[in-house]
Amino acid sequence: MQSNNLKLSTRLIHAGVSPDPTTGAIMTPIYQTSTYVQEAPGKHKGYEYARTQNPTRTALQNALASIENGKFGLCFSSGMAATDAVMKLLMPGDEVIVANDLYGGTFRVFTKVFANYGIRFHFINMSHAENIRGYVNKNTKMIWAETPTNPLLNIVDIEACAKIAKEHKLTLVVDNTFASPYLQNPLDWGADIVVHSATKYLGGHSDVVHGALIMNDAELEERLRFIQNSCGAVPGPHDAWLVLRGIKTLHVRMQRHCENGRAIATFLRHHPKVEKVYWCGFPDHPNHDIAKKQMRDFGGMLSFTLKDDSIEAANRVLSKTELFSLAESLGGVESLIGHPATMTHGSIPREQRIANGLSDSLIRLSVGIEDVEDLIADLRQAIG
Ligand SMILES: *Cc1c(COP(=O)(O)O)cnc(C)c1O
Repeated sequence: MQSNNLKLSTRLIHAGVSPDPTTGAIMTPIYQTSTYVQEAPGKHKGYEYARTQNPTRTALQNALASIENGKFGLCFSSGMAATDAVMKLLMPGDEVIVANDLYGGTFRVFTKVFANYGIRFHFINMSHAENIRGYVNKNTKMIWAETPTNPLLNIVDIEACAKIAKEHKLTLVVDNTFASPYLQNPLDWGADIVVHSATKYLGGHSDVVHGALIMNDAELEERLRFIQNSCGAVPGPHDAWLVLRGIKTLHVRMQRHCENGRAIATFLRHHPKVEKVYWCGFPDHPNHDIAKKQMRDFGGMLSFTLKDDSIEAANRVLSKTELFSLAESLGGVESLIGHPATMTHGSIPREQRIANGLSDSLIRLSVGIEDVEDLIADLRQAIG
């Protein structure tokens, strides 16, 4: 079922999936096979070898394309493998304009891997899309944005980036991991490629590492499918199945993530020991109007700083929460708490980190879908 006339909640459950032709199994089976028998050389049912095609992966690729309002989906063994495939569209000498507020692993693969292959990256403040224009030259091929960003929840105007990309014939890539297709569909605003770490909200249960790309352009899909098959960073069928299962409840999970996120952001904002809360749903968030335009709600990711702006004060909070587990990652049903200064962003020198707005006491929450009163009580006793 591919009809994009159906509402998202219906597509999350039915898109890409049809009863198994041999048994009628309602859920797509895990096709745990590496190869497929051919009737005669080249005469087969569309499947030859499982790096190239696997029916469980096909079902998921079609489902992801549908829920991102795209024509094509491609799955990878992780979000970073999906990013790696996109970068292989480029050649030595090509330049990329990147939002400077970026997932740490993406920053690392750009600066430590692809920079060595002669690709040049310009890291810029994309909170004002017009900043991009100053960095476009004849070698520029791509704009790479993430919105909302981690951990400061900055917002990039996708439509404004797409306008600049079209003027200069650049490929606009948007990492939509934080928002998920429930909150935001970058292709609708003119993005060319959507990147997902399905490890997060799409999988939703902290039990799988998986990545995906979604696009509308057939030529781009053909090039990326060629890279997917040639380089081989494909997910196993069991992992594809876990994501296929996860997305069936994306809408109900996200609805609760958003409700809980709003309640906790509001609670923290009124807490006497809290200095500042970063959440794009507040009307005084610098790009709230853009968030309102391109997102349907504001999600369950937020960060806050303490009046006592020290690593020690943050550690006291982190060590006391009981329901919020201290861990990297995000987007699962269980609430997580993290400390960017010593965890995800620990490798950035302190001065640079603080200049980027990541102060010592900054704490990041991935608000889960537990009862919100229990979550608030946990934060209340931990902040003290
Ligand atoms: C986690 C994450 C990635 C990387 O995905 P993996 O599945 O861990 O490889 C990329 N972008 C964002 C925004 C992420 O949160």
